[in-house]
Amino acid sequence: MPVRRTVGGVLLIFGLRSKDRIIGSRLGRCEVCGAAAAQTLVRRTTKFSLFFVPLFPVRAARYFVTCTNCGRVRNAAADEMVAA
Ligand SMILES: [Zn+2]
Repeated sequence: MPVRRTVGGVLLIFGLRSKDRIIGSRLGRCEVCGAAAAQTLVRRTTKFSLFFVPLFPVRAARYFVTCTNCGRVRNAAADEMVAA
């Protein structure tokens, strides 16, 4: 949610924006449902934005794996992102 603030008569709109980017997918066994299904690899970056323009990252990228069978999302280590 962007923040609106007036500083010295100038309106500033700023906030944090998260963006998910699908890196790829691979076949793997889901540890939740146990099915051998495609696991989608997602990289999420959070950036500080000013006037809705993302400027710079505020934290390290985070990685997620989503199971296409059950939809379960779990955290993934960055080294899991290497395509099998
Ligand atoms: Zn699953």
